[in-house]
Amino acid sequence: MAAEFDIIKQYFTQPTSHTDLGIGDDGALISSAEGHQLVVSADMSVVGTHFYKNAEPYDVGWKSLAVNLSDLAAMGATPRWATLCIALPKVNESWLKEFSRGFHACAKAFSLDIIGGDTTKGPLNIAVQIIGEVPTGQALTRSGAKAGDDIWVSGRIGSAALGLASLRSPQMLLEDETLFACLKALNIPQPRNKLGIALRQIATSCIDISDGLLADLTHILKASKLGTTLQLSNIPCLPLLQKRLDKSSVQRAILAGGDDYELCFTASPEYREKITTLSNTLNLPITLIGQASIEQKLEVYFEDKLINLSKLGYEHFAETA
Ligand code: ADP
Ligand code: MG
Repeated sequence: MAAEFDIIKQYFTQPTSHTDLGIGDDGALISSAEGHQLVVSADMSVVGTHFYKNAEPYDVGWKSLAVNLSDLAAMGATPRWATLCIALPKVNESWLKEFSRGFHACAKAFSLDIIGGDTTKGPLNIAVQIIGEVPTGQALTRSGAKAGDDIWVSGRIGSAALGLASLRSPQMLLEDETLFACLKALNIPQPRNKLGIALRQIATSCIDISDGLLADLTHILKASKLGTTLQLSNIPCLPLLQKRLDKSSVQRAILAGGDDYELCFTASPEYREKITTLSNTLNLPITLIGQASIEQKLEVYFEDKLINLSKLGYEHFAETA
């Protein structure tokens, strides 16, 4: 690609703070702290699949990194390094400027060094590889939940799905404030890395909610060979959603809507007070939504009615991998 080196220099090179050798050589050099394990994860963002062609480039930059940070949060890892591989259809300076501004703002907010990548011509596609650190043996996984553990979620669920629905159906009536909150949740997600790190000694399992609460909670329950029964009204969501829990579109946004990037985790009930204190310290709602049980099924009630989850596009518990 023409001017590839100029693009890398101008838009993708930022100072690093904990890297031995960063962008500019054939490879980067990093040193991990003693007594720690490295956590490695990757996520690709593809135009038309993960964001619209006309999406704000700042938001695309922020989110393509934020979704990767969210995986580190779910593992309880401290964010350390990332690489960015990007295919660009053409050199659009104003797009690149805003994209890299969003990308680096997110990197800076989470003390992440960008240590390399690749820049090539092609349909817009952003592949990020991220590396974090966790004290050896303390990583959070999906498989450690025990029967009787509490099930918690951070933040508010369903806002991003509602934001996406409002983009698809602009005639949808949302109060200004709600619309703003939903679009912000969709476009500039805030990964919960501080929470993930604080949960190292508390949570028995953890996952980030990217595909929808039920789908992601199912991963924990299946990996831990457990089940649960939830009450819809106990799941934290925006007041607008809370008022319309009887609507199937609202039930779908809360239970099956993706892109929330909140954490769902399990912990022994003995930690309830600690978790409440943590919620206050982080200024982040953390809500108890249920208990894990040995009966391997997932049920959700709205008041006393069992919700038909397959109608929400949710596959049966037993069939979901
Ligand atoms: P090579 O030909 O050895 O693969 P490149 O010309 O692709 O080297 O890249 C030069 C340097 O710039 C390398 O350090 C590479 O990691 C970095 N780099 C390339 N593209 C990006 C990008 N989009 N973001 C961050 N670093 C990049
Ligand atoms: Mg290269």
